[in-house]
Amino acid sequence: MNTPESKTYWIETYGCQMNKAESGYLECELQSHGWLPVQRPEAAAVVILNTCSVRKTAEDRIWGRLGFFKAQKKNHAFRLVLMGCMSERLKEEILNEAPHVDLLVGNFQKHRLVDVLEQGDTVAEAVAAGGDRKAQRRPQRPPHQEAHLIDPGEYRFAERHSLSGFQAYLPIMHGCNNFCTYCIVPYVRGSEVSRNPESILEEIRRIQTPDPQTGQMAREITLLGQNVNSYRYRNQDGTILTFPALLRLIAPVLQDRTWLRFLTSHPKDMSGELVDLIAAEPALCPHIHLPVQHGSNRILQAMGRKYTREQYLGLVTRIRKTIPEASLTTDILIGFPGESEEDYGLTLDLMREVRFEDAFTYRYNPREGTRAFELGDDVPEKVKQERLTGVIDLQRRITREVKKDKLGRTVEVLVEGISKKNEGELLARTERDEMVVFPGSPQQIGSFVRVRLDNLQGSTFRGEWIEAGRL
Ligand code: SAM
Ligand code: SF4
Repeated sequence: MNTPESKTYWIETYGCQMNKAESGYLECELQSHGWLPVQRPEAAAVVILNTCSVRKTAEDRIWGRLGFFKAQKKNHAFRLVLMGCMSERLKEEILNEAPHVDLLVGNFQKHRLVDVLEQGDTVAEAVAAGGDRKAQRRPQRPPHQEAHLIDPGEYRFAERHSLSGFQAYLPIMHGCNNFCTYCIVPYVRGSEVSRNPESILEEIRRIQTPDPQTGQMAREITLLGQNVNSYRYRNQDGTILTFPALLRLIAPVLQDRTWLRFLTSHPKDMSGELVDLIAAEPALCPHIHLPVQHGSNRILQAMGRKYTREQYLGLVTRIRKTIPEASLTTDILIGFPGESEEDYGLTLDLMREVRFEDAFTYRYNPREGTRAFELGDDVPEKVKQERLTGVIDLQRRITREVKKDKLGRTVEVLVEGISKKNEGELLARTERDEMVVFPGSPQQIGSFVRVRLDNLQGSTFRGEWIEAGRL
């Protein structure tokens, strides 16, 4: 039996940017307690899976990994930790079907994980043996509003963002109050809690302090929340800080040349004030991810989205008028219960009308416990797949057409890394969230450069270096 060095960890993260951010915080906290990351799971004393429950496919992958780690346990002594949304949703099943999971950490206990690991085998064994399993596993509301966030301590940027270099995800809120009828998120992440603006500003200052050794710091910061537009922090004097007001607090503390982004905007809460602010504030990138989900009012209503197709189109018109250079991306959810050919056609029509720069497209997947689950799942899988293919094909065509219009322009990009397809090329992103590859050297990674957009390869631009960007 292989016994890895104690205080070594391996972490796998599934799902959304919020999970990536939380895994980043967790790594930071682990490292500040003397834990070291390892290059492969077999070398770790603790294996942590940070899980997702939004779709069954995500959960299936994680069940597959649980099977893999069960086999690993025969020749490798390690503790297996399951945290995040799946631990919250499937406590009982995991208890029964995966007894080799040593520690199950729900979304309201994750800030305690490092303490529990630090206490050593006694706690882990007590949990595994069923001692106070239930108490450990029952969702617990945090006692105060910051408690749901894993405390990364006095971390330096390079530690916290070892995975994402100079790009930082920064959660500004937790949970969701919207209860879209298909979505499990409000059940597994609880109701909305907005983070104290002081701690947000403090984190920004910290991640923008250059690392003494590498000089690296955050150049692109993405504020995260399930619905950032409903950020509301009650100040001590009783006044309310809204999302646009938070952005106005953040902008002046940013270092020169920082790109500020945010995800996700719910169309029902996106105010004219916010649109005007994006137009006026140079640090805010002109890219808005505005999930429409569907083009049929009947389905939008059944989804509980609380806006109509006409209201959504009105918002798009306002954005395009106020910020002509803005790129708009979206999420589309196909195959919701009761979706007819006509409803589907309305979605294609809306896509043709808006001409999104890009879209994330999903096939509806019933989630037990949500309101839509009660409606059954009456669109046959074959039809769902055909409709999804139709949506994907249409979006590909629109994306190419929209991007072709941009060819010949010189734009600023942030270089993210080396292209996966060609080592002599770099992969970069524009302010509008478009990917560009161009010939260059790894020294340019993490810096802003100006490139000319020469060609399109799929939906990625091919470009040519023109000059260094402004710093
Ligand atoms: N808060 C964001 C919003 O309101 O758009 C999105 C969060 S959700 C994790 C990301 C996307 O997953 C959603 O926009 C939706 O399209 C998709 N999604 C959510 N529940 C789903 C389900 N039951 N089946 C398939 N896709 C789903
Ligand atoms: Fe889910 Fe809707 Fe909340 Fe987004 S806004 S997380 S889709 S319930």
